[in-house]
Amino acid sequence: MQAGTALIAGAGIGGLTAALALADRGWQVTLVERRTGFSEVGAGLQLSPNASRILVDLGLGPALRRAAAEPSRVAIRALRSGRTIGEVELGPALRGRFGAPYLVIHRADLQTILLDAVRSRQNVRLLMGRTATGVTQDSSEARVALLSASGAKEMVGADVVVAADGVWSKLRRAAGDSRLPSYKGFAAWRATLPAEAAPPGLPAQETGLWLGPQGHVVHYAIAGGRLLNIVVVEARPEPVEGWAAPGDRPALLETFADAAAPLRALLAQPSEWLLWSLFDLTAGHMAKGRLALLGDAAHPVLPFLAQGAALAIEDAAVLARTLSEAPDAAAALRAYEAQRLPRARKIQRAARQNGLAYHAPSPLAFLRDRIIGALGATGMVDRHAWIYGWRP
Ligand SMILES: Cc1cc2nc3c(=O)[nH]c(=O)nc-3n(C[C@H](O)[C@H](O)[C@H](O)COP(=O)(O)OP(=O)(O)OC[C@H]3O[C@@H](n4cnc5c(N)ncnc54)[C@H](O)[C@@H]3O)c2cc1C
Repeated sequence: MQAGTALIAGAGIGGLTAALALADRGWQVTLVERRTGFSEVGAGLQLSPNASRILVDLGLGPALRRAAAEPSRVAIRALRSGRTIGEVELGPALRGRFGAPYLVIHRADLQTILLDAVRSRQNVRLLMGRTATGVTQDSSEARVALLSASGAKEMVGADVVVAADGVWSKLRRAAGDSRLPSYKGFAAWRATLPAEAAPPGLPAQETGLWLGPQGHVVHYAIAGGRLLNIVVVEARPEPVEGWAAPGDRPALLETFADAAAPLRALLAQPSEWLLWSLFDLTAGHMAKGRLALLGDAAHPVLPFLAQGAALAIEDAAVLARTLSEAPDAAAALRAYEAQRLPRARKIQRAARQNGLAYHAPSPLAFLRDRIIGALGATGMVDRHAWIYGWRP
């Protein structure tokens, strides 16, 4: 179809990427964000080649190279003993194999890169401080109800509406899905610390992954190597509220009191931790008429495979392509859903399975460790070639 008008609700990684991808195909985009400013809270993000390739194709390669790092490998260790279980090859070898790098980046840096690019496009209008509260549609257009921070209401029409409003999407219901995400019994603790504060023996140019029955820990350098990003996933019967609840540092240290010495020393460093409960919802619908769901709004992914943002970026690329290739909006969004649903569900399943393997109790953990060791650094990549080698 000819480029028309699109309203995107939510300027997270998915919404920002969709705005860029559509703008570059000539669409007039209105990007609506509920927050009044962009203060991205903490934490880093791993960007596997399936996602970095799309960002590079959108012209963001030079900016990514400045802000992101390319770790040489993932070193996998046993959380309690510190014993090396195995490794995953990253770095130039992975880049050569998949034609795009495996990067780690501060969320705030990625958001700034995307936002700068969005702001440089004449055909994107960014509206901050507006919450999308509902969508209606007929055969000629879709209309989104917006509520401003001051309470003002407004209706905006567009040829296509993209709900990129995150895991607690308000617009999911308008696509015929009134289910709510369910808590999966895990919370993620997040902290950053200056790289020089990291204990010796944990090289900043590699990603560390520590596996134990009570949870797992991932750490990698962000912000050009200046900061170390740490994520601790811990079993927790009840969810905590919100995205950034303050974490109780002594409780965390007690949970991991039996961790290997370098890991204990690492976890003792940050003075502040933020907690984030992990929710899951198997992808249901991704389109209805002129409305498309994108990113976590469509398919939140447990962070055990580092694919949530990557899937959102993939969605954006496929959406822009189907909208330019199909004869009309409804046909384009049907094609979008047909292409995205199977992959989203497969990745959601793979992330859940990874979680089971990461937190396996003995003697399953013994078997897991044997398999990881036997696969070796490239064998571990082969397992995920279907993820990393994907192209829009
Ligand atoms: C601990 C942890 C680690 C992770 N690590 C990785 C990783 O390494 N790699 C990876 O690929 N993924 C990772 N993820 C997943 C990733 O963070 C998410 O999948 C990704 O951020 C989803 O992007 P999104 O744009 O769909 O949603 P969000 O980032 O949630 O953005 C939604 C946006 O919509 C706005 N919004 C919400 N409601 C409305 C409304 N009604 N109207 C207007 N605006 C609205 C919000 O303010 C927000 O800006 C991780 C997740 C967790 C929890």
